[in-house]
Amino acid sequence: MTDLFSKFDALIAERQALLDTGVRDPFAIVMDEVKSPTLAIIQGKPTILLGTYNYMGMTFDPDVVAAGKKALDDFGAGTTGSRVLNGTYQGHKECEEALKEFYGTEHAMVFSTGYQANLGMISTIAGKGDYVILDADSHASIYDGCALGNAEIVRFRHNSVEDLDKRLGRLPADAQKLVVLEGVYSMLGDIAPLPEMVAAVRKHPNCMILVDEAHGMGFFGPNGRGVYEELGVEKDIDFVVGTFSKSVGTVGGFCVSNHPKFEVLRLVCRPYVFTASLPPSVVATAATSIRKLMHAGDKRTHLWKNSKRLHAGLREMGFTLGTETAQSAIIAVMLPDQEITVRMWQALLELGVYVNMARPPATPAGTFLLRCSLCAEHSDEQVGDILERFRAAGQAVGCIG
Ligand code: PMP
Repeated sequence: MTDLFSKFDALIAERQALLDTGVRDPFAIVMDEVKSPTLAIIQGKPTILLGTYNYMGMTFDPDVVAAGKKALDDFGAGTTGSRVLNGTYQGHKECEEALKEFYGTEHAMVFSTGYQANLGMISTIAGKGDYVILDADSHASIYDGCALGNAEIVRFRHNSVEDLDKRLGRLPADAQKLVVLEGVYSMLGDIAPLPEMVAAVRKHPNCMILVDEAHGMGFFGPNGRGVYEELGVEKDIDFVVGTFSKSVGTVGGFCVSNHPKFEVLRLVCRPYVFTASLPPSVVATAATSIRKLMHAGDKRTHLWKNSKRLHAGLREMGFTLGTETAQSAIIAVMLPDQEITVRMWQALLELGVYVNMARPPATPAGTFLLRCSLCAEHSDEQVGDILERFRAAGQAVGCIG
């Protein structure tokens, strides 16, 4: 039988062949209970969570949880409407105030997810006749933002300042251009050389820069704004996109900016206008979390300690990692093929460690990896346990000696 689903046959067969080898499905895990930012029960087994985006461990913060409960009582379960109609409550405005304070910007716009923030910003500000210049390893939401809009798309080699410069040089000088970068690239955990990139962009006329700081918010830079703050290029960045689904510990997305005409986006940005706004409980948890992240120096220090320790320990055991040194809270363990990656993933799960398995198209072509992401709430003991279990799993599967 041939129908619209026939194009998925190869994927269905590949997946079935993998499951027929007896491994568990890495994309069908259920967290039966979640005890803390770092511990869940999966199929009856206490499991250390090493594959969440809960970098700062805010999901169970008592103030955050209390704010959510109060908003649920006071404002109900949902807004049932768009931000531009009945869906802006005082909580959405408070959340935008918290973001403006956190980022030190004039404007902040809250979207229902980070995915929609990229979708909306890129497709709206870059239109017909304009150009979007993006890193080849950009997140899917950035690519989808390009697909939704009408601008011409130009890709440059991942993190290559030279290629960025070269490609900008080929574009018409009088055309308007949006350069989209990420602070932390989430598959390998590497960071962008933003000062060099900004310098390259500034050589060319009519360019604006948008940086996605999804994986940098909370623990890069003196105020936790992201890699662009850490590397001192705040003044050169026109738009910062981010998410509440990582360090903030809930769900939602945003863009902050000092552009004087920014507020017009509330009228023309379709992924902002044509969708329901976040529930009051969610914006209350986000605002409380963002305000607490302004004073989270101790958590930041502990997160970096965890990340450096895990990186050094795994490297010493002989694993191949995505970066030479720990550049972020993401540590990617590179493996040769899908089968060994799934076996390693399963061995870890059986030993009580959950990590994310990533494969193309989420990863660059031909790259299979186990993505470890650390949390400020991982205790020293948990990091020690994780390392021991990685050694045991790696030896059992035969990917280290
Ligand atoms: N940008 C990047 C770089 C991301 O990694 C993600 C999510 N993984 C997003 C945007 C989308 O964020 P959200 O989960 O809020 O949709």
